[in-house]
This record gives sequence, C-alpha cells and structure tokens, in this order.
Amino acid sequence: MPPTPSISSADRASILDRLERERFDCAVIGGGITGVGIAREATQRGLSVALLEAEDFASGTSSRSSKLILGGLRYLAMGDIALVRETALERTVIHRLAPHLAEPRWVVVPTRSRTGLIKMRAGITTYEKLGAVEGADLHRNWSRDDLETEEPILDRSRFAHACVYREYVTEDARLVLANLRCAVAAGAAVLNHAPVDAILGEDDRADGVEAECAVSGRRVRVRARCVINAAGPWVDRVHHLENPQAPARLHLSKGVHVVLPLERLPVRNIVILNAADRRSIFLIRRGEAVFVGTTDTSYEHGCETWPLIERRDVEYLLAPIARDLSVEPIAPEEVVAAWSGLRPLIAEPGKKAHEISRRDEIWIGPRRVVSVAGGKLTGYRPMTRTAVEKAAEVCELQLEPPPAREAPLPGGDFDGDLEALSARLQRETGLEAGTARRMVGLYGTEAGEVVGRGADPLVPGASVLSGEVSWAMEVEGAARLEDVLYRRTRAALYEPSVREALVEPIADQMAKRLGWGSARREQEITTARERLARDLAFLGESP
Ligand code: FAD
Repeated sequence: MPPTPSISSADRASILDRLERERFDCAVIGGGITGVGIAREATQRGLSVALLEAEDFASGTSSRSSKLILGGLRYLAMGDIALVRETALERTVIHRLAPHLAEPRWVVVPTRSRTGLIKMRAGITTYEKLGAVEGADLHRNWSRDDLETEEPILDRSRFAHACVYREYVTEDARLVLANLRCAVAAGAAVLNHAPVDAILGEDDRADGVEAECAVSGRRVRVRARCVINAAGPWVDRVHHLENPQAPARLHLSKGVHVVLPLERLPVRNIVILNAADRRSIFLIRRGEAVFVGTTDTSYEHGCETWPLIERRDVEYLLAPIARDLSVEPIAPEEVVAAWSGLRPLIAEPGKKAHEISRRDEIWIGPRRVVSVAGGKLTGYRPMTRTAVEKAAEVCELQLEPPPAREAPLPGGDFDGDLEALSARLQRETGLEAGTARRMVGLYGTEAGEVVGRGADPLVPGASVLSGEVSWAMEVEGAARLEDVLYRRTRAALYEPSVREALVEPIADQMAKRLGWGSARREQEITTARERLARDLAFLGESP
C-alpha cells in the first residue's frame, strides 16, 4: 500500500473524473513553488483546491534555481530590506518544516584586504540581525591559515581573509513535491501534464478552467469559485486567457548553472566568487558534483521551459574559477551537466535584469482571476499566504485561521541531524554510506520506505535505486521518464557519469507499471536522450 499522502500516476483517470465531478473553491494554474504553496496554504485554511500543471510539477523555474534557501545578501545592498528580512527569517522556518530540504552550510566570501573584510562583516552582521541568526550560526572570519585548512581550493596568494556565514541548501523540485503532497493530504486534487488553455465563466467572473490531459488526450472542465494564476514565467500568457489586451508585466531573466565533477573542483563549503561584472557566482557541492551559477541576463525569446544555454554563458561562469582558485583552468568541454531557467521578475522599465527587485506582486484581472508572480523560492510561504487571503477576499471565500504551528512537510519529521538519520538508514538497510546520505537528503525520514521498494542500484555505479522509480510513480505523480530523471531523482543534474545509462532501466520500470507499449517506451527514451544532449548543446558552438 502506498503511504499517504500520495499522487499515483496509475490513477490519472480517477483524478480526471474527480476534477470534472466536483466544484472546488480554488483552481490553481501552475505547479511550481508558488502554485503548490497556494494549494497547501488554501487547503490548510479549509478551502477545496484543484491544481493543474502544464508539464510536470516543478518543471519550470522551480527546478532550475540555485537551490539555496537564502535571504539574499545582495538585495540588502539594493535596499530591499523588507524582502531580505522576510526571506532571511523564512530560512529557519523551512529548516524546521523540512530539515532534509534546508541543510545548513557555510558560505565563504573571500576578500583580498582587511578593508574588504570589514565591509563584508558589516553587511553580514546586518543580514544576521534581520534574520535573527544566533549562537553557533553567527558568521566568523577566516585568516589565510584557516583558508588553507578549511577551503584550500581558494588561491591564497589572492585572498588573505574570508568572511563565512550561514545559508541553507535545498532541493528545489523536491521542496515543491513535499508541499504538493501536503496539499493532497488535505484533500487537493492535482494533475500534471495538463495545460490550462481556457478560463471558464462570465465576462465579469471566472468560474473555472479548461485543460487537456497530455497523457490521455482527455479534456476536462474544472469548476471553481476562484481561479489563481501561478504560472511563473507564463503568468502573462495565462493572464491573456482572461484579458487578451493586458500589457505584459514580467521581465524574464535567464539563469544558467553548470555542473563539474567534484574531483575537478573540490570545494568543501559554498564558495562565492565575483564574475567579471562583479556579480556573485556560487560554487555549491552536491554529492560528487559541484554546480556553479548563475547568470542573470534579460531573455527576449519568449517563455520557454528549456531556455537555450550558450557557450558564452558557460564561459562567463567558468572565468572566475581560473582567476581565483588553485585549480587548472576549466574548459567548457569539462562541464558534465547544465540547466537554465527563467526568473519571472516584475518589470521595472530601464533596469537591467540583475538590478530588478525580486519582490512579488499580486493583481486581480477583469474576471477576478488572481495572478501572482515574482518573489523567490525562499519566500514562498508568506507570498502564498498573502495570495490566498487576497483570493478569499476577492472571491468571497471563508478562510479558517492559519494553523498555530505548521506540521513538518513529508520526510521532515526529525531533529535536523542528517548524518544521524543517514547512519540509521545505513544500519537498517545495509546501503553504502554515500547512497544512504543521498537518500536521506532527498527523502528525509521517508528514505527507508523508498529503499524498501527496491534497494538495488538501477545501474552499476549509480546511487539511484529502483525503489525511487516506484516511489516517483506511485507517490510523487511522475508520469514521464523525464519527470523521474530530472525532478524526482535529480540524476540528470548530479549523476553525470551514469545519467545516460539510467534512461533505459527507468523506462523499463515505468513501462511495466504504467502499461506503456513499446512505441511509448521508445518515444520516452528518445525524448529523454534528446533532452540530455540539448543540455550540453553549447559544446557544439565554436569557441
Ligand atoms: P515556476 O516554477 O516556473 O512554476 C510555474 C508553473 O506553471 C510551471 O511549472 C509551468 O509549467 C506552469 N504553467 C505555465 N502555464 C500553464 C498553464 N497554461 N496551465 C498549467 N500550468 C502552467 N529563489 C531562491 O529562493 N533561492 C535561489 O537560490 C534561487 N535561485 C534562482 C536561480 C535561477 C537561475 C532562477 C531562474 C531563479 C532562482 N530563484 C531562487 C527564484 C525561484 O526559483 C523562483 O522565484 C520560483 O521558482 C518561481 O516559482 P513559480 O512557481 O512562480 O514559477
């Protein structure tokens, strides 16, 4: 029996039946962190919710972030104090709700002079006050000798000091899934691969949405008292379904990350380097891989799920490594995986992408559709609370008060000691240490149940287990091969040496469970392989 709360891909027909049969309080368009945060908040406040996602849950920006739960030191310099306070405080809340998805790490900011160090400390001290940081989590200074032992990859002939402070690393797509499952536990009906293409109702009042299931081809009309547009970078497009004359509100900005093998870039903590234009570039370790990001450039090609990664994006990210680290310069050809995403920023005419505030905005259309955009992954709870309260006001829905203390997200019911949780999993299952640590990082206290579904690696040398594929389909709504490869197991990002080899075994397991014929299996394999190849297509560009 699958544990609750679960979203089974084998049940799509009954979910479609339910979507058509019931009348909901809210229909939410979009299954990124904003949409699922709204679904969770609304169900916690006593509303019935339907959520429709065009592709996979978290397939948009919410799986392409830098994967940091952070207040954003740089927004302090931009004067966005309220945003920084809110998100800095949110860090500890998310850590309490899902410690496996908000792992504390030290961030190392190297400086060349004592004056640089003093300036950095002043900024970080303010940041810590805004975020109510205390005790052992307060920043510290490292001397050149400390750097030698704690972060030897930094070139000590360039850096005499470093200021070191706390942030949290998450798994963005899995944070989305955890919130989604909370909403499902509280009664939400949710479906991925179901793009909304029409808003139902009268000229002055929307009362539902229409969507098409991309897996079965079945069309569905979902009736709801209130429609919420949480389509991230696609918010303008969905808003046009309601009001075709509306001017665009968003400024899309592309952010690219590249992945390198740990042995080529052996960072121990999170390291911040400056790019040529003085923007901060983060180097973040994840298992045996390190990812480097991000770029921040205006994107004029419209809204795409997979914005093109260009060679110049990659060169921009790799340049500071050659200058600031004691490693051989890294060529773009050494990149083993990469991802890009679009930030749905609220446009501020005349400003460059990296100068635009990360604030969020909520607006009400002529048919009372509530649209929400902007913000950050980290601030999803306060942002979505405000959105639900606004929607209730506009659509005259009765809300229950928020819970006094929120329950942990699925997998988050432990004290935050990931090493102890991992050691226990290892004892109980006999898994190898690295695999056990990866499993608790992704699944928290549910890791044992996942392993119980199949502890054998999908291919030799991979830490991805067969139980994860079963869990992805039966508990986390994975309906396509790409859903498992990219967003459930994250193998496409962090398992570069085996990601190609995983494609067929995942396809076989999915075909068996979901009844795919050989044509569907082949098509899924081809699509996944093309996707993996396109991630690295910049290698085909001449230098
Ligand atoms: P999305 O995640 O894009 O979700 C919108 C969803 O709507 C998509 O899944 C899409 O498929 C769906 N949709 C679109 N049209 C329809 C339709 N017609 N019907 C149904 N569904 C539809 N924030 C942080 O806090 N920390 C970070 O480290 C961080 N790093 C970032 C790095 C980069 C490069 C980028 C781009 C952003 C980063 N952010 C970070 C910001 C954060 O990722 C975003 O604010 C957040 O993910 C936006 O979520 P969303 O739900 O609004 O949009």
